[in-house]
Amino acid sequence: MNFNIDTIIYTLIITTIVMVIYLYIELRKKPQKPEYDTKTLLKCPKCGYQIEKNYELGEFIGMIKGKCPKCNTPMKIIAIYAVEKTLKPRKT
Ligand SMILES: [Zn+2]
Repeated sequence: MNFNIDTIIYTLIITTIVMVIYLYIELRKKPQKPEYDTKTLLKCPKCGYQIEKNYELGEFIGMIKGKCPKCNTPMKIIAIYAVEKTLKPRKT
């Protein structure tokens, strides 16, 4: 069997090229970046009732917004946070 240094180098080069191509393809497959929904948490200061709703522009923590569906007291924003969207296919 003719086994010389050229064969080894050739094999190594081919292996390296294959590895690089493989890595390139793997890196191109970007993981889907998670999407986030911004939520606002409202709390009734009187009865403690809490509602989570979608964040609206201009809202801030401490802002008085809406009314408690239970006791009709103005509700206060106690938290604003982002939640990862669950990627459910929506059916109409
Ligand atoms: Zn209330």
